[in-house]
Amino acid sequence: MESTDDKMERRLYSHDLAPLPKEMDLIFKTMPDRVDRPQYTQDVAQLVRKAISTKTPIVPRGAGTWGLGGSVPVKGGRTLDMTAMNKIISIDETNLTCTVQPGITWKALADALDAKGLFLPCYPSSAPSATIGGWIGTGGTGIGAYKYGTAADIVRDLEVVLPTGAVIHTGDKFVPQNGAGPNLNMLFIGSEGTLGVITEVTFSVMPKPEAMKAISYSFADIMRLQVALRKITRSEVRPMHMMFGDRLHYDYLRAVGKHAPSVGCLVTCMLTGSKASVEMEEKLLDEMMTSSGAKKEPDELGEHEWSERSYEFRVRELGVGAIPGEILVPIDRMNVVLEGMAKLIKQLKLNAPLIGTVADQNTVMFMPYYLTDEHKLVASTSAMGFAKRLGDLAQENGGRPVGLGVFFAGNLQKYRGKEGARLIRSIKDVLDPHGIMNPGKMVETGTRYGFAMPAFLMNFGMHMMGSMKRILPRDRIGERELSKLKK
Ligand SMILES: Cc1cc2nc3c(=O)[nH]c(=O)nc-3n(C[C@H](O)[C@H](O)[C@H](O)COP(=O)(O)OP(=O)(O)OC[C@H]3O[C@@H](n4cnc5c(N)ncnc54)[C@H](O)[C@@H]3O)c2cc1C
Repeated sequence: MESTDDKMERRLYSHDLAPLPKEMDLIFKTMPDRVDRPQYTQDVAQLVRKAISTKTPIVPRGAGTWGLGGSVPVKGGRTLDMTAMNKIISIDETNLTCTVQPGITWKALADALDAKGLFLPCYPSSAPSATIGGWIGTGGTGIGAYKYGTAADIVRDLEVVLPTGAVIHTGDKFVPQNGAGPNLNMLFIGSEGTLGVITEVTFSVMPKPEAMKAISYSFADIMRLQVALRKITRSEVRPMHMMFGDRLHYDYLRAVGKHAPSVGCLVTCMLTGSKASVEMEEKLLDEMMTSSGAKKEPDELGEHEWSERSYEFRVRELGVGAIPGEILVPIDRMNVVLEGMAKLIKQLKLNAPLIGTVADQNTVMFMPYYLTDEHKLVASTSAMGFAKRLGDLAQENGGRPVGLGVFFAGNLQKYRGKEGARLIRSIKDVLDPHGIMNPGKMVETGTRYGFAMPAFLMNFGMHMMGSMKRILPRDRIGERELSKLKK
């Protein structure tokens, strides 16, 4: 097993997708003291036992593509880089399951399955880099969820090294977990690396569909999308995936020289099934979309959008950071939230394009991404003010932010109620009696000084960062490129 305390390497593990300004080190010790790259379950169990004896925090990490700080230490310790555990253990073509180590990327697995005529029911759009363990750790939704379900539906069994060093299996390899006690798979799905280290995953796969067709529709304005979604979600049509972007998203793509339409909103739906069923669904979808004010775009655009589904942040080519906020919102409230979001973006003087997906029949996932200069303290910390206000907006409308991580951990009680939060804290205490497993996340926002930051203080701080942004000049990032586009 590789292990290093090289400062340069450790620095790479002191942030995830969303860079934290250096000044955050006043509160958190984000740089791990050591980085370990286990290869086998026994390596992980051994590291956990060592951590117990030395009272050292352990932080499981996949590819670090989540932006809420889940894989970033708050009080140093050892980061377990799981990407060396990247083997496919078995692909069972008879029972349609697949068992893998957690550090494999979705893309690598999808390619291996494809060679056998098999297909992943659901995967994140960050598939080229995100790991399977990280996806399960964050609750796992994404491409395919609308038709085939999320991690909760496709995971059959997890092997987990508990914070005591014990190794357990949470389910059965071939049958789903219903009955036989509480669902242990679900205990670890979305636990953000705080209850154990996932060392092996078994999940369902599918035969590749006979036909797949991506179709794009444009709207003059994103506010018109809700009417269409109300129709589609009540119909028998089940696209595998529905994703959309707003005008600014596509304007920015064109500004960085990419092929992108000039539209108010573009929705792309992927239909899967037999040739006949895909044809029939396409007709029904056409009817629902056009009667809601959409225009059907040429097939080539649908194909292009599908091929781009994993590259949503191309606008980073402008040389800026793109910090995503992610919220889940009931479809019924989506226009109210869109209005609130536009107001927020204006108040905070941001440039924030919007992308999103239809998560299930009741829910849309909005991912506005805020363009910033990561090297400027005020600019990047104000992103937190935006994330805080965005989370509040979602909650006021029956939704919530996707995940807790470091920044929203103080809101556990807000989302789960007093007794619900108490239960989650006691589960954490029972499973992790030594407090070594990714401490300072999910149930509290820990600090480098050993005490947790009170929720009100964290929320107040994040709110103030937004207020600070309101009095600063407007962000100008990308505006030059956009104005060239308009000429
Ligand atoms: C462009 C883009 C698109 C995205 N699209 C989606 C999407 O469609 N759906 C979606 O769900 N998310 C999406 N995300 C968020 C993120 O990519 C996913 O959550 C991803 O699956 C995280 O994987 P990772 O390997 O990067 O995990 P990391 O960021 O490294 O870790 C995430 C969390 O999981 C824990 N963890 C990691 N490995 C393990 C393990 N082996 N055992 C226990 N805990 C572990 C970590 O401690 C941390 O709390 C997107 C992000 C980006 C940047």
